[in-house]
Amino acid sequence: MWIPISIDEYVKVHLKKNPNESENILRVRLEAALDDYTNGIKCNCGKDIWIVGSASSPFGCYSCITGKEHPAGEYEIDSALEKRDKYGRRHIDEMNPMDINGIFNDNGYEINKELIKMPSLCLTCVKFDSLDWEDDILCSLTRSDDSDNETFVCYNYRKGKH
Ligand SMILES: [Zn+2]
Repeated sequence: MWIPISIDEYVKVHLKKNPNESENILRVRLEAALDDYTNGIKCNCGKDIWIVGSASSPFGCYSCITGKEHPAGEYEIDSALEKRDKYGRRHIDEMNPMDINGIFNDNGYEINKELIKMPSLCLTCVKFDSLDWEDDILCSLTRSDDSDNETFVCYNYRKGKH
């Protein structure tokens, strides 16, 4: 999980911990990393740049700088908290904690309901027309988990009148 922070706040925190560093150089590096991020320039591995980490290391993403998969309480500049991996997916640990909603798979990646294929089995299920949001989420999860398999399997399927 990221801790969102503004550039000004981060500069204060960083200089308190590293009193010998120059505020000007730090700001220039942060702005340059943020520019790269905004312009869609990626880490060598294809992921979005981590602005805060890139202020003190060569520009790169969180994983390449720290060797860890996802942040656990590190700072990131608030305007850069829409990070995506090289496949364009967002991970729950890399989103602004203030606007996490929607649904996520077991690995923590956001599921875009519009992109899930609709198996023909679902069209004949009683839950297909259900307006229950819990059904809706469970069905979307099942459909997205199974989208790589050739035959779609659903253990909650109940034949409807269609
Ligand atoms: Zn990387």
